[in-house]
Amino acid sequence: MSAAPEPRRLVVVGASAAGLAVVEEVRRRGFTGEVTLIGDEPGLPYDRPPLSKQLLAGEWDTDRLLLRPREQWEALGVTHLPATAAVGLDAGNAQVRLVNRTAIEYDALVIATGARAVHPPSLGAGLTGVQVLRDLTDALRLRGALAQGGRLVVVGAGFVGAEAAAVARGMGVPVTMVDPLPLPMVNVLGEEVARTLAERHEAAGVDLRCGVGVGEVVSEGGRATGVVLDDGSVVDASTVLVAVGARPAVDWLAGSDVPLGDRRRDGVEGVLCDERGQAAERIWAAGDVAAWLDPVTGRHRRSEHRLAAAEEGRAVAAGLLGAEPTLPSLPYFWSDQYDLKLQSYGATGRDLAFAVVEGSLSDGRFIGLYGHRGADGRPLTVDGVLVNGMARALRTWRQAVLDRAPWPAEAASAAADRVSVTHL
Ligand SMILES: Cc1cc2nc3c(=O)[nH]c(=O)nc-3n(C[C@H](O)[C@H](O)[C@H](O)COP(=O)(O)OP(=O)(O)OC[C@H]3O[C@@H](n4cnc5c(N)ncnc54)[C@H](O)[C@@H]3O)c2cc1C
Repeated sequence: MSAAPEPRRLVVVGASAAGLAVVEEVRRRGFTGEVTLIGDEPGLPYDRPPLSKQLLAGEWDTDRLLLRPREQWEALGVTHLPATAAVGLDAGNAQVRLVNRTAIEYDALVIATGARAVHPPSLGAGLTGVQVLRDLTDALRLRGALAQGGRLVVVGAGFVGAEAAAVARGMGVPVTMVDPLPLPMVNVLGEEVARTLAERHEAAGVDLRCGVGVGEVVSEGGRATGVVLDDGSVVDASTVLVAVGARPAVDWLAGSDVPLGDRRRDGVEGVLCDERGQAAERIWAAGDVAAWLDPVTGRHRRSEHRLAAAEEGRAVAAGLLGAEPTLPSLPYFWSDQYDLKLQSYGATGRDLAFAVVEGSLSDGRFIGLYGHRGADGRPLTVDGVLVNGMARALRTWRQAVLDRAPWPAEAASAAADRVSVTHL
C-alpha cells in the first residue's frame, strides 16, 4: 500500500490524543492543505487519564484537562467539528458520512475514534446509579455521586476500576471492588505486584472480592441498590461503576472496506493496519482503535495507552505525507493508586518471570524486571521494567528493555535470597 502522492485534504475522525497528534504533526512537517478534525464529543479535545485520577478526586477542574488551549487550536489552522459523529465511510468515493447527513471528502483519512467502554446489559445498563468511566461526562457524574457519599461497587479491578476505587477511598466512600481474576490488574502486573496492589487496596479499606464475578445488578424503581455476586452474596451499592474494559469504536466503519479484526480469527479487534498504521489505500489508523502489525511477532497488536496514541498519531502523520515515520517505541503505561505511581516500559504480565532488582515491593520503592522464559523456565532477557518511586532508574532500564539485554545476574542472585522474586 502507498500513500496518495500529495494529499490536499486530510480528514481525521476522532478528536482526542491520537487525532491531535496527527494534526499537530502534519502541520509541524509543513503540510499546508486542509485539515478537518471530526469528533463526536462537544467542546475542545481533552485528555482521558486524569478522568480516573485528578478530575475524579476533584483536584483538577475540567479546563486543566484540555489537550491544547483554544489559541493553539486556532494557530494550527484546523477545522474542528465538535459534536459531529462520523456515521459511515464510503472508501470507494473517499467520503466520510456525518451524522448531520453531510459528507466530507478526503485525500487522506485517519481513523482515530479510540475505544468505548463495555457495558454488558446484564450489568444494569440503563439503570440510574450504574455507569462506566470513559469520558468527561462519565467522570463528572461519578464525581458527583461520590461526593454524595453512599456506597460504591466497582466491577472490574483493571486500570480504570482500581484507580477509581483508590480515589473513592480517598474521599471516604465505602468501596467494594469485584473481579473474577484472583488479584487486581494481575494480567498486566503479574501475581507478585498485583498482590502488593491488593494489599494496598485492603489497607485503604477497600472490600476486595477477587476470584468472583458479578452476576447481576439489582435495582428498585429503576435505581441500582446493589449487586449479586456469582457466589450468591449480595453487596449493597448506591453507585455501581462497570469497569470491565473497552472495545474499539469501529461501528461507523461497518460495510466499508476497512479491514477490521475479529477476536477469534485475528486475536484482536480494531482497525487492522500494517506496521506503519496504514489500513487501506489513503486510510490510516492510530490510537486505541488501531491494531498495528507487530513485525517481530507477525501479529496485530492494539495498545490502549496514552503514549502509544500520540506516537502512532505522529507516525501516521509522517507516513501519509510520504515521509519516513518514527515508529512507536516501547509500550509504556502508568497508573496512580494511593501513593503508588507505577510506570512501566515494555512487556509485563502474568506469563513472564518477575524479579525485583532494587528496593522492595513492601517499601513501595522498587525496580522490577519482567522477562520471557527459556525452555528451562529461566528468564533469558529483560523484556519489561516496572518502577515505583524510582523514576530516574526507569530510563536506564528502558534501554535494557530496548536492547533485550540478557537477564542480569543481580536479578538471578536476588532470586536466591528474596521472597519477592518469582519464577526464577
Ligand atoms: C479513565 C481512563 C483513564 C486512563 N488512564 C490512563 C493512564 O493512566 N495511562 C495511560 O497510558 N492511558 C490511560 N488511559 C488510556 C488513554 O486515555 C487512551 O489510550 C487514549 O485516550 C487513547 O487516545 P485515542 O485518541 O486513541 O482515543 P480516545 O481517547 O478514545 O478518543 C477517541 C475520540 O473519538 C471519538 N469518536 C468515537 N467514535 C466517533 C465517531 N464515529 N465519530 C466521531 N468521533 C468519534 C470519541 O468520542 C473520542 O473523543 C485511560 C483511559 C481512561 C478512559
